[in-house]
Amino acid sequence: MKKIQMVDLKSQYDFIQPQVNKAIEEVMTNTAFINGPAVHEFQADLEAYLGVKHVIPCANGTDALQIALMGLKLEPGDEVITADFTFAATVEVISLLKLTPILVDVDPKTFNIDPEAIVAAITPRTKAIIPVHLFGQVADMEQINAIAKKHDLFVIEDNAQGIGASYTHKDGRKAKTGTLSNVAATSFFPSKNLGAYGDAGAIFTNDDELAHFIRGIVNHGMYKRYYHDVVGVNSRLDSIQAAILRIKLQYLDYYNERRKEAAIQYTNLLQNHPNIITPYREGDCDSHVFHQYTLRIINHDRDGLVKFLNENEIPCGVYYPVPLHQQKAYLDPEIDTSKFPVTNKLVNEVISLPMHSELSIDQIEFISQKIKAYLD
Ligand SMILES: *Cc1c(COP(=O)(O)O)cnc(C)c1O
Repeated sequence: MKKIQMVDLKSQYDFIQPQVNKAIEEVMTNTAFINGPAVHEFQADLEAYLGVKHVIPCANGTDALQIALMGLKLEPGDEVITADFTFAATVEVISLLKLTPILVDVDPKTFNIDPEAIVAAITPRTKAIIPVHLFGQVADMEQINAIAKKHDLFVIEDNAQGIGASYTHKDGRKAKTGTLSNVAATSFFPSKNLGAYGDAGAIFTNDDELAHFIRGIVNHGMYKRYYHDVVGVNSRLDSIQAAILRIKLQYLDYYNERRKEAAIQYTNLLQNHPNIITPYREGDCDSHVFHQYTLRIINHDRDGLVKFLNENEIPCGVYYPVPLHQQKAYLDPEIDTSKFPVTNKLVNEVISLPMHSELSIDQIEFISQKIKAYLD
């Protein structure tokens, strides 16, 4: 059996090496390192794949979130509601822009922001909601959008972990994540479902005016060369990364299918165990692209399991070990931690198993058997 890896970027590269190397070589030859044809081609391909009017490439996923928020022209002190259980980048950009992050609890089944908790957190200062499609599972967008409409709020999807997932509306209509809100941000960090070979990100929107505004923000606030209309940033996707992403985009559905197959195999082996809750799945599970395959370990020693797996050369991760409301940087001394019963519990129960497009059935069987051996 091959050595088990949390993500296996090397095997993935081996499979597409000739194509990727050729694409990189083209950029080296045409020397259009910044804003070259590869960037425009990737942008157009991604717009077509997602069915969205505008993709605005940028330097990384954190920038994408920040720029999306800047595009909405919020004022300092405006409140932005997001999940207590997510990667810190989501809340970091809210704070950086001097907006006020309002953290709310999540749903124990999906790990995603709880619409009821959103409603309870709305005040006259609330301006936006940032749902995160955590671990690749789509948030409850229909309900979130209904709340936003009722209270006149913006919705910004953090799609860093959800690219390629589709959401089925109650009337049967399907749409890709990242196209279900005013504006969305994504990351192409190497380990994401669509990963570059370095940092990269993008913003998506169907709003022409917002897209135009954001295209200026990413480029020093310029709409005409050397005329700076707003305070912008410098956040570019470089041409080499775009050329690589363009190749990998052709495989995204295949990669996500492989992840789903691995997830189903894990679930078949691990479900119905008294100490394990396997990830929630909706219907045929096209709403989940398994950026992570995350179990809840209940009435048992999660940290002991992590140690045991590592001793058996099985990598695993705890995403995330601390609720955001308890992180030093975002600590509000007045906050009532009993408002976060689900996150407070999840941080002690979750464990993410190796998940990537190259996992083999014998690896999944080995991992599952070791987990059960520890728990039994
Ligand atoms: C990875 C990630 C980001 C940040 O992306 P970077 O490209 O690393 O800046 C933001 N939000 C979530 C949920 C992520 O997983």
